[in-house]
Amino acid sequence: MLTDVQKERYARQLLEMSEEQQSSLLSKKVVQVGIGGLGSPLAYYLVAMGIGKLTIIEYDDISLSNLNRQIMYSTSEIGSFKGKISKDKLEALNSDVEIEVIEEKLTQKNYKKIIREADYLVDASDNAKTKFLVNDIGLDLNIPFTIAGVREMEGQIMSVVPHETACYRCVFGKVKPKGLVNNPPGPLGIYGFTAGVLGAMQAAEVIKGLLKMDGRLLNSMLMVDLLYMQFLNVKVSKNNNCIC
Ligand SMILES: [Zn+2]
Repeated sequence: MLTDVQKERYARQLLEMSEEQQSSLLSKKVVQVGIGGLGSPLAYYLVAMGIGKLTIIEYDDISLSNLNRQIMYSTSEIGSFKGKISKDKLEALNSDVEIEVIEEKLTQKNYKKIIREADYLVDASDNAKTKFLVNDIGLDLNIPFTIAGVREMEGQIMSVVPHETACYRCVFGKVKPKGLVNNPPGPLGIYGFTAGVLGAMQAAEVIKGLLKMDGRLLNSMLMVDLLYMQFLNVKVSKNNNCIC
């Protein structure tokens, strides 16, 4: 059950959810792949709302060109390891949450060692290859997951319950065989707020997924266009030829 301090910390969301739900949230383990543009608001909200443990997989250092969108970081932290800076800030935000940082690049070879126990997996990477990898890991380990992508003023986000709902490959992976997804040459342009909007949406999907709430982006992909402020929910269905 919740302590008096926890009842006060989470008071505003306890007007919405029960103490049992909050206690349940405080026992859940989430693995987040990447802590950059999407991952900064994602991690902040997950930790602020109180989960049990957040594992962050990240290997990169902070650079000046990250700072238009990666709001976890400050100018004085350029050159520091993202994982270390994030861990310090997130622990200062809420000591209810255990923060683990894994300084490795997630691969087909190491994921079983890295992701030993998780109630939810969330992709906050900046490249298609990792998004497909997170998809395949979620399917293999049978962990529900959310994937989002951003560029310019556009984003997409979907959630998957393995082997029950359509996966990321059902939507994007039909023509490209496993492991052969190429990234475009050079980085894509992005308005910083696009990552903020989609990262916060990912936090919503993770929390709703952990609490098994309705209204999630299952068998659907939300297409977000912040230039014209249009949100399109596209129904997707399981592809019989897909690995899922
Ligand atoms: Zn699929």
